[in-house]
Amino acid sequence: MTVTIGVLGIQGAVTEHIKKLEQLPKVKAVLVKSIEALQQIDGLILPGGESTAIARILQDFQIFESLQKKITAGLPVWGTCAGMILLAKKILDSDMTHLGVMHITVKRNAYGRQLGSFSILETIPAISDQPIPLVFIRAPFALEAADQVEILHILDGKIVACREQHMLATAFHPELTDDLSFHRYFVKMVQQYKL
Ligand code: GLN
Repeated sequence: MTVTIGVLGIQGAVTEHIKKLEQLPKVKAVLVKSIEALQQIDGLILPGGESTAIARILQDFQIFESLQKKITAGLPVWGTCAGMILLAKKILDSDMTHLGVMHITVKRNAYGRQLGSFSILETIPAISDQPIPLVFIRAPFALEAADQVEILHILDGKIVACREQHMLATAFHPELTDDLSFHRYFVKMVQQYKL
């Protein structure tokens, strides 16, 4: 079954996600910048970038509330890095307006200056039996997650990939690597919910 997957095209690593989706069969990738575009997709990726800027522009464009409602109603969504921050119910030490739909608590820029950016190869059995390169750029991690959240990967004791029903969050950037397995996993999620 072919699915249409949008990438929120406001700020950040947008084209990188589109290029990855275009490499997969049965996927139509589209840029989402309006409420109209939001109505025509089966799933949505919230890319990495600057979460405060993305949240502000979402409100300026007046698509914040529609997006929040769509996700609450079951639109499959995947937040990478800043996208994970926007999805989290709670952001540590922050009162920024954000979507707050996923039952996790995140910490922004959680790796400090020294480890601001790094890359590591890890095996994540739920996603692939091959090691996956994980690229972290001023990344968050989740400190805690509610019982209904499936933890997909823990790195150094911190949650860096998780899923709650139709919502997926990764602290890292699969779109900046040659690996397609997370995109493939998200496409499957979207197909499941379209049934
Ligand atoms: N540090 C950014 C934020 O807090 C996220 C960085 C990223 O998306 N690569 O929004």
